[in-house]
Amino acid sequence: MAGKTILIVEDNERNRKLVKVILRAKGYVILEAEDASSAFCELEKTIPDMILMDIGLPQMSGLELTKQIKKREEIKGVPIVALTAHAMIGDREGILAAGCDDYISKPIDINEFPKTIAEILERSEKLRK
Ligand code: MN
Repeated sequence: MAGKTILIVEDNERNRKLVKVILRAKGYVILEAEDASSAFCELEKTIPDMILMDIGLPQMSGLELTKQIKKREEIKGVPIVALTAHAMIGDREGILAAGCDDYISKPIDINEFPKTIAEILERSEKLRK
């Protein structure tokens, strides 16, 4: 899955850096956004292969941002994976109801995280074929 482009939407700089370092080491091209408006700005320039979405974002939440993205014809096929600190049953339903394709609990497991990302990318590629 190396060479695939992943947009990270995360307001916490440390979390963003950690995700970026882990995924770059696996050969992914990483784009970053710290809030909804910078995410839309990035999406105007590039359609990524996946979006990693923090739920707790300033101004517009990651769930609301996901809903907005999924309304757009040109990007609605891009898998969105929620990064959430609160993966309880009710949250899980809300995350999937908002249109997220999957979710990963924070804090992320440095070894498991890239494997999970690769699996989700592979799965979404198969779905699109
Ligand atoms: Mn956050």
